[in-house]
Amino acid sequence: MPKYDYLVVGAGLFGATFAYEAAKRGKTVKVIEKRDHVAGNIYTKEVHGIQVHQFGAHIFHTSDQAVWDYVHQFADFNRYTNTPVANYQGEMYNLPFNMNTFSKMWGVRTPKEALAELNRQRSEMAGKAPQNLEEQAISLVGRDIYEKLIKGYTEKQWGQKATELPAFIIRRLPVRLTYDNNYFNDPYQGIPIGGYTQIVTKMLDQPNITVETGVDFFANRQVYEAEASRLLFTGMIDEFFNYQLGELAYRSLRFETEILDEDNCQGNAVINYTERAVPYTRIIEHKHFEFGKGEKGKTVITKEYPADWHHGDDPYYPVNNQRNNDLYKQYRALADKQAKDVIFGGRLGQYRYYNMDQVVRSALDLVAQEF
Ligand code: UDP
Repeated sequence: MPKYDYLVVGAGLFGATFAYEAAKRGKTVKVIEKRDHVAGNIYTKEVHGIQVHQFGAHIFHTSDQAVWDYVHQFADFNRYTNTPVANYQGEMYNLPFNMNTFSKMWGVRTPKEALAELNRQRSEMAGKAPQNLEEQAISLVGRDIYEKLIKGYTEKQWGQKATELPAFIIRRLPVRLTYDNNYFNDPYQGIPIGGYTQIVTKMLDQPNITVETGVDFFANRQVYEAEASRLLFTGMIDEFFNYQLGELAYRSLRFETEILDEDNCQGNAVINYTERAVPYTRIIEHKHFEFGKGEKGKTVITKEYPADWHHGDDPYYPVNNQRNNDLYKQYRALADKQAKDVIFGGRLGQYRYYNMDQVVRSALDLVAQEF
């Protein structure tokens, strides 16, 4: 008899949500995690009284009230609203694309004037259905904004030409004819007071959950698999199958964090550097996620560099183009045939560009199916 009802591989948000819900239903769960800490990429750590997002900025936002209520079991949230600013060759533009952006870009003052200019520039794409990210961007906001605020940022983030990227990536960004710099349209938004790590720690702190960090599933696969009746795998689905159908592509990131002896370095949590020549995509000043908390005279900033992914690097983003999505489907079919007792979940297991709320939603949907 296996020792546990479930083995969960990966202690990120998906794995932890599932483990918590399974434990609540009386199941025994073992969670193993390759890194030496839980919480996956939402991991935050306190430095000089500031919660540092160790794996990039994470801003919780959702339209799903049930998910919003759900995460509040594990943390209180502040009223942070994401209002990133773009720096293009030293010119500062508000994001997302709104009246502040249009006014700075074109000197327009009213929604009518902005719309006239937007429509003039969008007409370049008139009648054509956008086939790639570049065409999608131009049909959304026209060429000026595309060239200054989208092209460089996107091409360095994804390591590919905008003409070769799928259109859906840019559909994440709102376009507004109001002076509203809120990056998200969702009604609920905030940052957990005291950081994200506590959410996962509290989820996993149950009598029938055993957690082991710093252990690699692949180093001892047979032993781990024999320990539980069912397996939830939140790592890379292609690695699970030993890349037998070929490799899925991922993007990676590299972070450079600095502690500075000043109070306020950039005046905003997120500044995007949208020109191609600057090697990083954004600089995060962590204290501004928490309204200037932390020690006086200290601030922590992180530069985020996009990177090609090679074996052994941390995968951050699935690259959801046609080729990879087709390959993922083949892995899914293989999973249905060969791995009936294995569930694949999360950004890597499902090869989807999930936000945190979507991760929680899909874990809860899985729970509803499983129990
Ligand atoms: N984007 C852009 N310029 C910006 C910010 C975003 O062109 O200043 C585009 C880019 O294509 C990017 C997408 O919008 O891949 C989504 O960006 P977001 O910052 O929402 O992605 P995240 O990495 O935070 O998930």
